[in-house]
Amino acid sequence: MASTDYDFVIVGGGSAGSVLANRLSADSTNRVLVLEAGRSDYRVDPLIHMPAALTFPIGNRFYDWRYESEPEPCLQGRRIFHARGKVLGGSSSINGMIFQRGNPLDYEHWAAASGMETWDYAHCLPYFKRMENCLAAALDDPFRGHAGPLVLERGPATNPLFGAFFEAVQQAGYPLTDDVNGYRQEGFAPFDRNVHRGRRLNAARAYLHPVSGRQNLDVKTHAFVTRVEFEGRRAVGVEYARGNLLPRRVRAGEVILCGGAINSPQVLQVSGVGDADELARLGIEVVHNLAGVGQNLQDHLEVYVQHACKQPVSMAPYLKWRYRPWIGSEWLLFRRGPGSTNHFEAGGFVRTNDDVDRPNLMFHFLPIAVRYDGSAPAGGHGYQVHIGPMLSDVRGTVRIRNADPRVHPALRFNYLSTQQDRREWVEAIRIARRILEQPAMRPFDGGELAPGAQVETDEQILAWVAKEAETALHPSCTCKMGTDEMAVVEPTTLKIHGLEGIRIVDASVMPCVPNGNIYAPIMMVAEKVSDLILGNTPLPPEPVEFYRHQRT
Ligand SMILES: Cc1cc2nc3c(=O)[nH]c(=O)nc-3n(C[C@H](O)[C@H](O)[C@H](O)COP(=O)(O)OP(=O)(O)OC[C@H]3O[C@@H](n4cnc5c(N)ncnc54)[C@H](O)[C@@H]3O)c2cc1C
Repeated sequence: MASTDYDFVIVGGGSAGSVLANRLSADSTNRVLVLEAGRSDYRVDPLIHMPAALTFPIGNRFYDWRYESEPEPCLQGRRIFHARGKVLGGSSSINGMIFQRGNPLDYEHWAAASGMETWDYAHCLPYFKRMENCLAAALDDPFRGHAGPLVLERGPATNPLFGAFFEAVQQAGYPLTDDVNGYRQEGFAPFDRNVHRGRRLNAARAYLHPVSGRQNLDVKTHAFVTRVEFEGRRAVGVEYARGNLLPRRVRAGEVILCGGAINSPQVLQVSGVGDADELARLGIEVVHNLAGVGQNLQDHLEVYVQHACKQPVSMAPYLKWRYRPWIGSEWLLFRRGPGSTNHFEAGGFVRTNDDVDRPNLMFHFLPIAVRYDGSAPAGGHGYQVHIGPMLSDVRGTVRIRNADPRVHPALRFNYLSTQQDRREWVEAIRIARRILEQPAMRPFDGGELAPGAQVETDEQILAWVAKEAETALHPSCTCKMGTDEMAVVEPTTLKIHGLEGIRIVDASVMPCVPNGNIYAPIMMVAEKVSDLILGNTPLPPEPVEFYRHQRT
């Protein structure tokens, strides 16, 4: 086996991996290698870079790992399909491009746990700001950044259905807010998006490609890491495979796992790090007994409440094949038109009851009735909201089935399995319906397509959710930071407890999923950890006042 040496080997050139590749190689004395299982996010690939093409890579083996859950007991035994990006940029190359930080209180909750003090909002805010260039925010806005690699364009939300929706939320008693990533998250507003000049701006385009000329940075695509190599308790490198070639070995001063919430626990388990009894049962030699690996799996489940639209104003015609050449040409030539939007241009955050201290429900409003896989319900004009509880207490697991790294692990989410989750689902559907029934929507309302009039009681709502819900694609928290016995990484270094020479930096290290989409929080974590790894003085905390709901 061939063997080479690097200071840092980054496993996975995805969202977090791209940030680390950039920041760690900024010091020219560091030799950095990125190993990415998928291919490159070629600049000319419209399925990645045309925002409106976002449904095409999903389920496509050239872009997607195509995971599937085990049968979910409370979802009528359905297996839930889980897309994950398998390409440079990782899931940021196939995601919905919605940019949400989560609520400041999410980080205050993280920081409340022992040892997590430096993860409160004041410590995270400077890193949220460092990574972004928010075009819509004022230059003196203390919450927003203007010089980072992630250029954010705010949804124009000019379709008349957005105007009606914003009216409707207010008629239903909910406020508008200036910026859901700023002082006040609670309320409704146009959303920031990872779209710039009509193209998707994924993590690789923002962080990795601009520095690809650095002599000390190597990026290998089609390089699937099959295991981490240890000498005693110290990680010393990884083994990886490229196509049918013989496995290769690379030695590393440090291994940094950035494979995401499913692969990072998987690669650890096949390498002998995890629950010792389970590993022994599978015939895997135990390197380190760490019970939390693959536990604490969290996600957001969502449904679409859909209405027909009786005015011909929705985006529905653009789904038709006959319009596609025109949409494609306009996008290719001018980077504008229906191809240049992700359609997720606006939405909001709501508390479903007065017991919660921050919004536990996120809305995305779309001026079209369509499923995430691109299929429309009735073929006509329509609109919809995507909703689901954001702070569910449901927890699941990622467990390998055997020692083969190519076999997908068993994913158990346990959606809808707790009383709190079920209660919030009923509240969610009722609130969505109340908003969509307001007078402002009436000129457009051609009737509810889903759930439909036959779904009325709590039991009927839960049965419909069990039948229809899909993942919002936020699996996370499977190697959580912390100091308790189920924690996997140490909060001030992100080193794996009990091991040397190995850290994890991706969606798996979050202790609890934030109350919105999770790409921005992951990128913030990667930015913050890059300073910890390099030994830089961390950015000073910024203790700002942010909106807090006052309980009555
Ligand atoms: C279809 C979809 C839509 C989404 N929409 C949104 C959205 O609109 N907004 C939002 O905020 N979030 C969204 N998300 C979630 C968000 O994009 C992800 O949670 C986030 O990008 C994950 O970042 P990560 O760094 O943890 O992992 P990834 O970005 O997934 O990176 C992991 C990388 O590691 C590689 N890898 C894995 N295993 C190996 C191995 N063994 N060897 C080598 N390489 C490996 C993978 O190929 C991948 O490139 C969406 C996700 C999906 C899939």
